Amino acid sequence: VPRMSRGLPIKKKIPGVDKVLLVSSAKGGVGKSTVSSNIAVALQSLGKNVGLLDADLFGPSIPKLFGLSGEPRISDDGKLIPLMNYGIETMSMGYLISPENAVVWRGLMVMKALQQLLFEVQWNNLDYLVVDMPPGTGDTQLTISQQIKVDGALIVTTPQDIALIDAVKGITMFNKVNIPILGLIQNMSHYICPNCNHESFIFGSDGARKEAEKHNIPLLGSIPLNEIICSQSDEGKPVMLSHPDSAVSSPYLNISKRIL
Ligand code: ADP
Repeated sequence: VPRMSRGLPIKKKIPGVDKVLLVSSAKGGVGKSTVSSNIAVALQSLGKNVGLLDADLFGPSIPKLFGLSGEPRISDDGKLIPLMNYGIETMSMGYLISPENAVVWRGLMVMKALQQLLFEVQWNNLDYLVVDMPPGTGDTQLTISQQIKVDGALIVTTPQDIALIDAVKGITMFNKVNIPILGLIQNMSHYICPNCNHESFIFGSDGARKEAEKHNIPLLGSIPLNEIICSQSDEGKPVMLSHPDSAVSSPYLNISKRIL
């Protein structure tokens, strides 16, 4: 049945973009933005032209993760021109308004801003646009999932049970709107001791694997809890760029190879 006759909005292509990948998580703080930025860099290292859209309107982190700030320039035809660092084009609510101001916005203003971020950015011939989604399954997530032609979604979880239970809501949402789930990414899955390289599975070792099997979706990779990942975020340079050959970066690269 055509989407229109079911009362659903028609899904549109984002201008200037070939493939759209959503990176989502059920709750905040699980490492979704860190995964988004490192996957973007990893895809670029595999020869792709990549952009990153920060759709986390109330907690934008991409500007900080890419060491970018300032307002975007506007093109002659009124489009937002992405800010670029390390060869990756980015756009974020963080460039347009301070998050303190955004939290008092009414729903209508949020939806208008979202439309602008989705359809009025002058992306330059991207092979992939990685979308850092807001956490959870609210209005913004549904709007994006229903309005945009999406090629696949990645779901980031931590091994703790609570995050896993919530992840199921994300799986259900993407299934409802017919977005293929490419797989689960387990972040902070284990701790690698910087002194002796011993791996400790602090939260247990197979929570995400079991969850992935239960829902019949692949577990694409597990990223260790590592202080370099965190300190590089503070530096504004993703670990995939600063330490491309380290054991910390290899999961991002392997995940990216699997989703190409
Ligand atoms: P989210 O986007 O889900 O809110 P972030 O990507 O902002 O989460 O990550 C939350 C915090 O955890 C940040 O300080 C980030 O640097 C840190 N972090 C994320 N992944 C890791 C990791 N694998 N190892 C260590 N710190 C991490």
